[in-house]
Amino acid sequence: MRKFGLFLISVFFILIVPYAVSAEFSNYQMSYSDITAYINHHPVPSFACDGKSVIKAEDLEHFGFDVVFDSASMTLDITRNSEVFIDGMRFTKIGYPNGFPKGTGTASGVKVRVNGYDVDSFAYDGCSMIAFEDLGMLGDVYWVPEFRALKLWADGIHIIDYAPLVLEKPPIDPDIPMIALTFDDGPSYFTDDILDVLEKYGAKATFFIVGERAEEYSSQLKRACKLGMEIGNHTYSHVDLTGVSWNYGVSQITGTDSAVLNVTGSKTTLLRPPGGFVNSTVCSFAGKPIVMWSVDTLDWKYRDAWHVASSALAAGDGDIVLMHDLYPSTAKAVKTIVPQFIERGYQLVTISELAYFKGYKLSPGIVVGRI
Ligand code: ZN
Repeated sequence: MRKFGLFLISVFFILIVPYAVSAEFSNYQMSYSDITAYINHHPVPSFACDGKSVIKAEDLEHFGFDVVFDSASMTLDITRNSEVFIDGMRFTKIGYPNGFPKGTGTASGVKVRVNGYDVDSFAYDGCSMIAFEDLGMLGDVYWVPEFRALKLWADGIHIIDYAPLVLEKPPIDPDIPMIALTFDDGPSYFTDDILDVLEKYGAKATFFIVGERAEEYSSQLKRACKLGMEIGNHTYSHVDLTGVSWNYGVSQITGTDSAVLNVTGSKTTLLRPPGGFVNSTVCSFAGKPIVMWSVDTLDWKYRDAWHVASSALAAGDGDIVLMHDLYPSTAKAVKTIVPQFIERGYQLVTISELAYFKGYKLSPGIVVGRI
């Protein structure tokens, strides 16, 4: 059936696309879409425009395709790459998480070709937007109605076992206050209890992972990733980065990236140095935005759910709350914290979402405490 669908899509594009007018999208409004687009099971940012799901053509290079711009002919060529590592999640999270500034696309002077065939495109935010459906020339495009998912499967691309996100996040409203809950030092046995609560309330959080724990608690890590939690880096063996050599510090960060990559198929997006210890050397080798916190629950010290919950609930709009998914008292506190914040009208978001919707740019080596 899929092969037949591919055949029909191919015939459609081969016959129709070369005659399409490339300014078709001119002056259409772009907006949030509740449809999730995937390439080989990796989510790719997509937006609604004129009844179509559109993506940034440039994003495709993160999903195993060659994207080459020729300035002389003003042509953007998208073709299959032989063997490329896929790093889609990182791009998805840092770029524009599940939301997009509304605006108007314009006709583009750039001609976009997919496997040699012209496709409709328009300029937006300095990029060329194309319809996801047009990727049918790169592989098999199909629609999964129960998940409202639009998928491309391209054979021969190196894939890491990574379960697709199946939930549909409601769009984040920038006018409603938001808080980022963060959990350090895991994953652990108690991560599952915390994920149960976050999942139940459709809330998001960021988990700063200790690399050497990733394999032992791979099911918790995988689940966090699958639920759309942001995965950050907390070094490989929880070292004070201000007290180690440059090379060792780098290896602590890349070691966690490799460990997380092995489990989830994605690298980490952010760094939280253990203890919050940071200096100019750490900033120079971090290679990722350095995220601190603005509300410290001291949950490692006070192993009491009531104390942890009351500390966390002092947070307000733009705050980053520090907890640790190592303790049963913290897991118990989360059962109060999450529904309380939601009842108070807060959106619980990841760090990248908080930064994005508060208009804060996360940059490698730059320290963030509150957004
Ligand atoms: Zn820590």
